[in-house]
This record gives sequence, structure tokens and C-alpha cells, in this order.
Amino acid sequence: MNLKKNNIPSVHNYCDRWCERCRFVDRCSVGSSEKLLETELKMDLAMTEEKRQEIMWQHVADSFAEAGRLLDKMIADAGLDIEAIRKEAKENPPQEPPLTERQEVIKELTMEYGKDVYGWMKNNKELFEPEALTSRALVQRDDPERFMRNIKDAIETVNWFCFFISVKSQRACSGKQEDKFEEELIQSDFNGSAKIAIIAAGRSIVAWEFLLKAFPEIEFAIIGYLAQLQKISRHLLLEFPDAQKFIRPGFDEVKYDHIQ
Ligand code: SF4
Repeated sequence: MNLKKNNIPSVHNYCDRWCERCRFVDRCSVGSSEKLLETELKMDLAMTEEKRQEIMWQHVADSFAEAGRLLDKMIADAGLDIEAIRKEAKENPPQEPPLTERQEVIKELTMEYGKDVYGWMKNNKELFEPEALTSRALVQRDDPERFMRNIKDAIETVNWFCFFISVKSQRACSGKQEDKFEEELIQSDFNGSAKIAIIAAGRSIVAWEFLLKAFPEIEFAIIGYLAQLQKISRHLLLEFPDAQKFIRPGFDEVKYDHIQ
């Protein structure tokens, strides 16, 4: 992986991992890899929504692995022995710090939401097949093309974030327990992880609200997911009151506002 001169350090740590939509893709050591182009191409060529989702999930898994490799490189650059660190970690695995009551609630709520949405999307995939969407678009008052675009965007958003919220929330909770000395620091890793989890929950809410208007017959399920997300956001904001003040590299820095 190349660490280019104009890369923004750590930009990939608090992003949404949606490289194909990211304005910093050319300045990120994870997103600018050739893998992204390959993923985009495969997604464009995928014949079904299910296949697209499969490719998308693989990309998410790969980009997390890529971030791990970047960490290895940083360790090596710092003159440390990666193998010795791995051996030490294997022999003395870090003990998970106990979570507080609210952190346990966050863990449960986010995992439940991810599993529920994943299962529901799988069981209702025929609703979102291209033919079904085209028929629905034709009877809408909205411009059919715009409707199709918005629906596709809403479905992708819900799918993209359904497990992401859980991963980032759990990282934030365990990080807060582990890094007690960082408790007062706004720029702590746990605040950054909590912030992106809150952003992902907010974007999922907007996407579900759009789907609610487009699919009134599945109102019952959607209202349930909206309630779950609102609960998750509320608990995250209470647990991480400074998360919104965290400045994410690139994304929250005014000097990069010009990059669209
Ligand atoms: S910051 Fe990097 S890893 Fe994150 S979405 Fe953008 S390109 Fe992808």
C-alpha cells in the first residue's frame, strides 16, 4: 500500500467505509487502493441486488483488513517487531474490560438491529428487485427516475450501515473502558468511533423514512427499525456526550471543505 504525500493521515479511521462515495478516496491510503476500482466494477456488473450486496460486504471486510495491514506497516516503520507483538498478544490476550450497564444495552441494541435488518432485507428482497421497483416507480407522483435513484440509495444506505453501527458502537464502548486515562480527551478514539456510529444511525433513519413513504404497506416493520435506531442514538449520545465535538480527520476539517 502506498502512503502518498497528499494522503490525509488517519482519514480512514472515522469514516463510513463507503469508499465508492467518499470525497477523500484519492487522499486515503485505504480507499485509493486498486481494490476499490475492482469492487466498483464488480458491483456495476452484478446482475442482482443480492450479488451487489455480497460484493459490497466483501469490500467492507477487505477494507478493514487493509486498515490492519496499514497498522502493521506503521509498527514496522516505528522499528517494532510485529511478530513479537503478535506472539505476545496471542499468549496474553487482552482481557475485555467489563462494560457498564448502558454500554451493554448499546451492544445488545446495535447487534439486534443489525441482525433484524439483515434478516428482513433477505426475506423481503423481492420488494427491491429492479422489476418490482420499476412498476412502483411508474405509479408514483415523483419523477420515476429520481424515485428509482432515491430508493436504490436508501436501500444501499440501510444495508451498508446495519452492522457498521454495531461494530463502531462496540469499539467506542470497549475503548472507553480501556482508555480510562483518555476519558477527558475529546479527541479520543472512542469519541471518534461513537461519532461515526451516531452519524451512521442518523443516515439510516433518513433512509428508512424515505422507504416508509415509498412502501407504506411495510410501515409496521419500518417503524420498528426507526424506533430501534432512535433508541440507539439516544443511548450513544448519553454515553458519549463529547462525541459530536470530535473532529474527524478530513471530514470535519474546514481546510478540506473544498474537496467534493
Ligand atoms: S476515508 Fe478512505 S476508507 Fe474511508 S470511505 Fe473514504 S476512501 Fe474509504
